[in-house]
Amino acid sequence: CDNIVPMRIADVQEDIDYELISSEEIHTIIAKAAAQVSKDYQGKNPLLVAVLKGAINTLAAFSQELSIPCQLDFMSLSSYGSGTTSTGTITVRQDLSTDVRGRHILIVEDIVDSGRTLAWLVEELKRRGAASVEIFALLEKPARREVDVDIKYPGKEIPDEFVVGFGLDYDERYRNLDSIAVLKPKVYQGEQA
Ligand code: 5GP
Ligand code: MG
Ligand code: MG
Repeated sequence: CDNIVPMRIADVQEDIDYELISSEEIHTIIAKAAAQVSKDYQGKNPLLVAVLKGAINTLAAFSQELSIPCQLDFMSLSSYGSGTTSTGTITVRQDLSTDVRGRHILIVEDIVDSGRTLAWLVEELKRRGAASVEIFALLEKPARREVDVDIKYPGKEIPDEFVVGFGLDYDERYRNLDSIAVLKPKVYQGEQA
């Protein structure tokens, strides 16, 4: 296995417009939020909830930076298909395996776009009896926000561009890039909205 090299932006250069956030910067953003969360959740054994699949890289990196015990769980929601725009309706494809009653929940999100997915999830977890529900979001597109959601631990604001990498996909591709990049529109031109 000596000659195995991980896929990088250079390997998909023809699909990428430019690198928006380097791997180093991603980890700096995550470490800063994790330090604050480690203080705020001392003794609370928080349950970190990630929405599959985009948030898994963020969840893995974030949880490894915490200095306190925590638990992890996942949920699969459908609000996006293979395209680049929201359908607006949210359904649960795969539910949590944890009873959230009385738990302190931290939702770990990859990116907040319209905010509809998060707004729905916060309400749902509260409805199930969570003691508290807060959010860490690695990225935010303020220009696209439609629903007001309070992000207690914000990461970085980005322009209204479609990004891939570090868990984020276009049509299930590019999730394994270690940095975040803007995709060339030609890659998704011709998609059916
Ligand atoms: P919202 O409900 O906030 O409109 O949608 C949030 C979800 O849409 C994100 O968790 C992510 O899965 C997807 N999404 C929004 N913007 C982007 C983007 O620029 N790139 C990718 N790959 N997914 C995005
Ligand atoms: Mg997400
Ligand atoms: Mg996606």
